[in-house]
Amino acid sequence: MKRVRIGLVGLGKIARDQHLPALAANPDYDLVAIASRNATLDDVANFPTIDAMLGGDVALDAVSLCTPPRGRFDQARLAIEAGLHVMMEKPPAATISEAIALAELAQAKGVVLFTTWHSREAAGVEPARAWLAGRRIDAVRIAWREDIRRWHPGQDWILEAGGFGVFDPGINALSIATRILPQPWRVDAATITVPAGRQGPLKATLGLLAGAVPVSAEFDFLQTGPQTWDIEVDTDAGTMVLSMGGSILRLPGESPREAKDAEYPGLYRRFAELVATGKSDVDLRPLQLVADAFLIADRTTGEAFEW
Ligand code: NAP
Repeated sequence: MKRVRIGLVGLGKIARDQHLPALAANPDYDLVAIASRNATLDDVANFPTIDAMLGGDVALDAVSLCTPPRGRFDQARLAIEAGLHVMMEKPPAATISEAIALAELAQAKGVVLFTTWHSREAAGVEPARAWLAGRRIDAVRIAWREDIRRWHPGQDWILEAGGFGVFDPGINALSIATRILPQPWRVDAATITVPAGRQGPLKATLGLLAGAVPVSAEFDFLQTGPQTWDIEVDTDAGTMVLSMGGSILRLPGESPREAKDAEYPGLYRRFAELVATGKSDVDLRPLQLVADAFLIADRTTGEAFEW
């Protein structure tokens, strides 16, 4: 297969922690350019913006967007209009209409759009889906509690409008849950707590339905000490627990199954397949659920938040 000449946009935490190592380890890609307002990388072409990168003297087949969701629409639109395949970090866009418009534009232009959900690549997710298939599911509890100061230090955008607040991690839980549990999904009730002076919630609770199955979800961005990323599913064969963001699977009566983290290598493998076959992968259900939660939530103002 011809190597995909890829440019990366936004050289922040996730780009450095995950995208650069995953690209370096995958022979399907040549990382040829970076678009960053603040940083540069050795041995590639560096540009301050995606506009400059697209207009620069570097040949590209694809871009991978590692920027915050608000503002990503214009970056993706420019790349698609330039005839490039696009892979996007989660959440795919700041609004559903942006994401739909991008999917339609990609189709019209004949390029691939991949709206990634990295948590779906966690080792326990597909085995959990297989184990649940055909079982009676009675109830589901999601608890996603992490420390914003530890995982997102100084990222003010996350608490701005369009930054998703605690739904930035919470949407990862919903991406797993919508993959492994019955359809269709809807939000029945929601509460959000937004710190005074900010726009994004630090806490949220959701009452959802997956088909007829009740699902409760609790998202908390102020969890110090042990961090929790758990999904518990009560079934006619006992309770299944996916923990640590989907990387550990506990099936009733079995010892826990755990595997090395390979979420981003999995995403880039999948993107290479999509590019080779010319197929897009756009699943907006997790984004729809978050948008619905914002639509119907009881909203409380909480204490001001400082880093
Ligand atoms: P980050 O550290 O703040 O990096 C985002 C980068 O995007 C910035 O460094 C900046 O790069 C660029 N950028 C462009 N416009 C920006 C704006 N208006 N405000 C702030 N940055 C802007 O954020 P991140 O943690 O990497 O998150 C980026 C995306 O990855 C988010 O959608 C997030 O949900 C997702 N993600 C994050 C994690 C994680 O653990 N942090 C895990 C999985 C997914 P330049 O200075 O290079 O232009």
